[in-house]
Amino acid sequence: MRTVERMAPLQDEMIGIRRHLHTHPELGLEEYNTSKLVASLLEGWGYTVATGLGQTGVVGTLSHGTGRKSIGLRADFDALPITEETGLPYASQTPGLMHACGHDGHTAMLLAAAKHLAETRGFDGTVHVIFQPAEENFGGAKLMIDDGLFERFPCDAVFGMHNMPDIEAGVFGFKEGTLFANAEGFDVVLRGVGGHASTPEVTRDPIVAGSAIVMALQTLVSRNLDPMESGVVTVGVFQAGRASNAIPQTATLTVDARAFTDEVAALFKRRIPEVIRLQAESFGVTASITAMTGYPLLMNDPAMTQYARKVAVDSLGQKNVIDLKRPYTGAEDFSYMLQKRPGSYLVLGAKSDTAQPLHHPGYDFNDAVLLTGAAYWADLTRDFLKSA
Ligand SMILES: [Zn+2]
Ligand SMILES: [Zn+2]
Repeated sequence: MRTVERMAPLQDEMIGIRRHLHTHPELGLEEYNTSKLVASLLEGWGYTVATGLGQTGVVGTLSHGTGRKSIGLRADFDALPITEETGLPYASQTPGLMHACGHDGHTAMLLAAAKHLAETRGFDGTVHVIFQPAEENFGGAKLMIDDGLFERFPCDAVFGMHNMPDIEAGVFGFKEGTLFANAEGFDVVLRGVGGHASTPEVTRDPIVAGSAIVMALQTLVSRNLDPMESGVVTVGVFQAGRASNAIPQTATLTVDARAFTDEVAALFKRRIPEVIRLQAESFGVTASITAMTGYPLLMNDPAMTQYARKVAVDSLGQKNVIDLKRPYTGAEDFSYMLQKRPGSYLVLGAKSDTAQPLHHPGYDFNDAVLLTGAAYWADLTRDFLKSA
């Protein structure tokens, strides 16, 4: 019998947990109730549980047999500051917050795997189930690592999984190398000299300077980037002025840049502040630039990715496994874990007739793939920790 069928008795309980999390979303680094629930469930199933890593992160550890190998499985559990518009009976009860990225589903899938592994064992070694806060903004993965994640819970390899509503439900996607972009952000404040709209000669206009900056930034991709490489630079915020007959003192801009190689990321990191500063200077305006912490490139270890793919083929059949052709332009902080340990990040298709994109106010995790993802975690664990 396939693991997914063996796990069928867990289905109702796990969907119940998933929907409970959906009803009670919590923002990054504030996931206190989610963290408490996860910890108490794991404890009840016999895991040794550590809490408070990266503020609200939880790690459950289960050893079986005498094997020395260890595997880390990671789920994220933070929600987003988006107002839910699904109209579901279990919709968010917290105004302005929702699980719009399916991290409620990721958590439920890993919990289901954890319970199944505790009940059925069949592995020889140690599994660490890692429940991570603040994937969306604050780099919870890095915070957990800084709190000694891999020293306290040594993992020979780590794996993570994200649901994708645009891929057929139950299909697993793999890609060696780059899977998610490097993201850099910059907050810019331009300070000029304000004055009357009718006497521009005695002012230093931050709007004109800002406009030149926006246009100059467009040349990074078109003139600085190797035509065979790719990247994207977006000015997402440009705010200035309140009166039609006045030139304001200041303007603010934000810049978002994404790259798919370390070289292009370094180019953006160097050229964006340079272009902003020199453009501002030419208008007699000063620019203060704050670099925002983005996430590094997510690089999948080739050997671990091939391995994870093989486990999927063995347990689900070739028809449920695809190779992803290109990286996602989004960013994902599991990249920090992959900088420390070999491993792979994979995606699980979750398409349905009503599926909305991630981060859409109408999005909901597709419960039909909950046990599929959980069974994969269990199969991966048992294969990785099979007795020598
Ligand atoms: Zn997200
Ligand atoms: Zn997500």
